[in-house]
Amino acid sequence: MSHLNELANTPRREFLKAAIGSTFASGVVIGGEPIARSVDVAVVGAGLAGLTAAREFRCHNIRVCVLEARDRVGGRTFDHSIGGGHVVEGGGQWVGPTQTAILGLAKELGVETFKSYEKGKTIISVSGVRFTTSAEERGSADMRKVKAKLDAMAKEVPLADPWAAKRAKEWDAITIADWLKTNASRAETREELGLEIETELGPPEKTSLLWFLFYIHSAGSFHALNVEAQELRFKGGPQALSKKMAIELGDDLVLASPVSKIDHSGDVLIIESKLVRVKAKRLVVAMMPADTRRIEFNPALPAQRTALMKKWIGEPGFKVNVVYPKPFWREAGLSGLAVSDHGPAGITFDNSPPDGSKGVLVIFIDPKKAPKDGQARRRSVIEDLAVLFGKSAKEPTDYFETDWAGDKWITGCVSPLPKGVLSEYGIALRKPIGNIHWAGTETSEVWCGYMDGAVRSGQRVAQEVRKEL
Ligand SMILES: Cc1cc2nc3c(=O)[nH]c(=O)nc-3n(C[C@H](O)[C@H](O)[C@H](O)COP(=O)(O)OP(=O)(O)OC[C@H]3O[C@@H](n4cnc5c(N)ncnc54)[C@H](O)[C@@H]3O)c2cc1C
Repeated sequence: MSHLNELANTPRREFLKAAIGSTFASGVVIGGEPIARSVDVAVVGAGLAGLTAAREFRCHNIRVCVLEARDRVGGRTFDHSIGGGHVVEGGGQWVGPTQTAILGLAKELGVETFKSYEKGKTIISVSGVRFTTSAEERGSADMRKVKAKLDAMAKEVPLADPWAAKRAKEWDAITIADWLKTNASRAETREELGLEIETELGPPEKTSLLWFLFYIHSAGSFHALNVEAQELRFKGGPQALSKKMAIELGDDLVLASPVSKIDHSGDVLIIESKLVRVKAKRLVVAMMPADTRRIEFNPALPAQRTALMKKWIGEPGFKVNVVYPKPFWREAGLSGLAVSDHGPAGITFDNSPPDGSKGVLVIFIDPKKAPKDGQARRRSVIEDLAVLFGKSAKEPTDYFETDWAGDKWITGCVSPLPKGVLSEYGIALRKPIGNIHWAGTETSEVWCGYMDGAVRSGQRVAQEVRKEL
């Protein structure tokens, strides 16, 4: 009996066990060998990009098999339950009104959005001085001038091929910090803008100006990137979208099955994963280019693609969600947004559920300023919150950490590309290689780096592959 027939005869319960997680993997690995499967398209990665692509294939009756390394779906979206049907987001969380691809998908899947809480004043705590300010009071004329200049330059970077911008070489030879030194006259502008960019993308002193300009254009404007993109959240969290798509896929999704090898030497691709060996006419690899480094390709990929994968940078992040009986800061006229330079709590936001039945502060912590020991870190984060928000912050009811630096399957949350990568190797980002196609938010022309970009990349790759089948 062929492996394929064995799979067909595997009781549904056994195969579902494999789809649920590695604990049950022995239920389907026959004689220690992965089960064979033959499909039209294999998809590697069950984040938003891979799942969206797979959903499109199924809608067009194309046989698909999605292989995911972890025992869960959602990739860089990962939510923790806080009870009462509410969650806090450990990964991606906000969306904005122009992110129409993810909003459309959410609507189809029946996942609603709600407005992020942003009424009230911001706390700034710098060099030991704490004060509150409103959005209107922030932002000098110099800051507005610099942002307008960046917006204008961003429009000169074509979305489809940013490496072909007229000044691509020049802008890819300097960092954002280099550019700010000569274009932002006030030190305060450089510092404030630097912090904004660091929160969005990564350290300005390490990130290429060309890449950042592409990022701005891809989002629409600096304002869209920094303000609009944070306007909304998903009821039940963004991972709900992936979970719903996973249910639709059923047996066509295999979890806990990392792909280690891809043989693309013949007309039929052979994809080796822990639980399943898939033969496919076409393959979609749906993840950050840096994450594809863990897969062995036979024959080796062309030099430009290999270099792109090697040089791609992922910036890890560390999110902490601290839960309180109520959002006590709102009564004090505070929005929950705080920016500080003294402790691990570098930047905080109100992350309470839509009905405000609990209070949640989400904190992007600076691991360099946080103790390594988990208990000591928790104490230090809470003490830091008490300095910012007062003594009520000392009494949380729950505390969730999500440290992406320790994640085995994700190189980083966002991609602050260094100088020279985009202009030299960017052309290999989306270009198919034989029967291999690339997806993942980093390949998106619009809202690159965001959940919306991930969904768009899944839709784009599905169309690209369908034309070839
Ligand atoms: C802390 C944090 C905060 C963020 N905040 C926001 C936000 O507020 N708004 C926003 O829009 N975006 C945000 N993002 C970014 C957003 O989450 C991502 O852009 C999006 O989820 C990427 O989806 P993807 O499908 O392209 O990639 P991924 O989610 O990275 O999916 C790739 C998948 O491939 C799997 N994989 C890797 N290697 C293998 C292998 N060898 N075999 C099989 N499977 C493999 C991975 O496990 C993963 O599931 C944030 C991300 C993080 C981490």
